[in-house]
Amino acid sequence: MCADSPAASGSDPARDSRREVDWVFRRVSWLVTCDDTMRCIPDGALAVDGGTLAAVGTTEEILQRFRGRRDTDLSGYLVLPGLVNAHVHGAMSCFRGLGDDLPLMQWLTEVIFPAEAAHANPDMVYWGTLLSIVEMLKNGVTTFCDGYFHEEDAARAARDSGIRAVLGQGIVDFPAPGIPDPGRARERAEAFLEAFPAGVPTLRPSLFCHAPYTCSAETMRWVKDLCRERGILFQIHLSETAGEVEELTARHGMSPAFLLDRLGILDPGTLCAHANWLDTSEIALLARRGAGVAHNPESNMKLAAGVAPVPEMLAAGVNVGLGTDGCASNNDLDLFGEMDRAAKLHKAFRRDPVVCPARRVLWMATRGGAKAVGWADGIGSLEAGKKADFAAIDLKQPHLTPLYDPVSHLVYAVKGSDVRHVWIEGRQTVCDGKVQGLEEEAVMKEVRRIAASIRR
Ligand SMILES: [Zn+2]
Repeated sequence: MCADSPAASGSDPARDSRREVDWVFRRVSWLVTCDDTMRCIPDGALAVDGGTLAAVGTTEEILQRFRGRRDTDLSGYLVLPGLVNAHVHGAMSCFRGLGDDLPLMQWLTEVIFPAEAAHANPDMVYWGTLLSIVEMLKNGVTTFCDGYFHEEDAARAARDSGIRAVLGQGIVDFPAPGIPDPGRARERAEAFLEAFPAGVPTLRPSLFCHAPYTCSAETMRWVKDLCRERGILFQIHLSETAGEVEELTARHGMSPAFLLDRLGILDPGTLCAHANWLDTSEIALLARRGAGVAHNPESNMKLAAGVAPVPEMLAAGVNVGLGTDGCASNNDLDLFGEMDRAAKLHKAFRRDPVVCPARRVLWMATRGGAKAVGWADGIGSLEAGKKADFAAIDLKQPHLTPLYDPVSHLVYAVKGSDVRHVWIEGRQTVCDGKVQGLEEEAVMKEVRRIAASIRR
C-alpha cells in the first residue's frame, strides 16, 4: 500500500465505462465521515482524484462508478478525516519536559521566555517544528495551526513534510526571537508574509498576537488590520488564567473578550486559544461574532489554568476546535489523547456524564478545528469535493475489540499509535507507521543536539 507499491484494479480498461480516478480505497471496515449527520459507513470506500475526494460511499457504490489507477483494500481498518490540531507551537517540542509542575506565569517567565531568548533561532524552529510534524503525522493529524517566532522556518518544515498547516508569526511588545526591536514588529510581520511560500496549496500564513497581556491595544489593532487586509487568520491566547483576566479587567475596565471586541478583533477570521475564563455574556459575544476557539484540555489541566466552559460554548453556538498547545505544556501531540481528556474533563468537572459526548468531541477535532482555522471548505470531513486528507486506524488489536460504535472507539479507546497510514491531498505521508520522505531518526538526532545546548 506504500507509495511505491500500487495495486492494479484487475479489470480491462477498454471495456470499463467507469470513471477512472487516481486511487480507490475499498473494503474500509468503518468509514467515519464526520459529515453533517456524522455518518459511519460499514464496508466503505473512497474515490480520490487529483488530491480531492471524488466520492464517498459503500464499496459497492464506489466500485460501480469508479476504477482506480491504484486500488487499495483497507479491510480491518477504520478510516477517518485527518485530525486538525487547532492550536500548537511546533518548535516547542525542543522544550518537552522542561520545567514541569510550575504555575503558568512562573513557568513562562522563569523557564520558557528565558529558554526562548537564548535558544529560539531558525535552526531550533525548523527542527523542533519538524519533530512535532513527524509526531503529529504518525498520530493522524493532517492539519495543524501553529504560532511561534522565526515562523518562516516552521513553514519550511511544513513544506518539507507535506503536512497541511496554518503558520502564525508571533508578535509581542517586548524583544522576541527574531524581533529584537518590538518597534519593528510590523516590518517583521510584513516580511514574513512576503516570504511565505507561494503556490503551496497545503500552507497558509497567519499572524499570532501572543496575548492581550503581552500586546498593547495598538499592537493587536494593527495586526488584526493586516490580517483582514491579507485575508488571513488572526490568532491570540485569550483568558487562559483567572489572574490575567483580573489584571486586564482592572487595566482596561472590561474583560479581555470585550476588549478584543471593542478593538474590532472578534470575527470569524479570529481564533482564540484557551478561552477558559469566559462568563455567559462573553460566550454569547464570541458566538455572535463567529470567532473560533481552540480548546486545549491537557495543557489547561497541566498548568491548572482553568477549565474552559466548553459545554456552554457549544450550546451557545461558538465554534470550538481542539488543540494540544505546545509540547512543553502537554507533553505530547496526540490528539486522540486530547479527545479522550476533553470528553472526560468536562464530565468530571460538572459531575455530569452526558456533557461532551464522543460525537461532539470528534466533531471538535475535525469539523470544529477546520472551521476555527478558516479551512472548513476544504477539510474536516470525508465528503465529495473536499481534500483527500485521511488516516487509517488498525482495528485488529485487543484494546479495539469488540467494536460496537466506531465514534466511541475514536474518542475513548484509540491511541495515536494505532494510526498506520495517513494521506494528505491524496498523497500517502505515513505508511505502516513510518513518515514518508523524511528520516525520523535524523530529525530526532538534530533535536537531541539542540536539547544538549539547552541543557548546558
Ligand atoms: Zn498556546
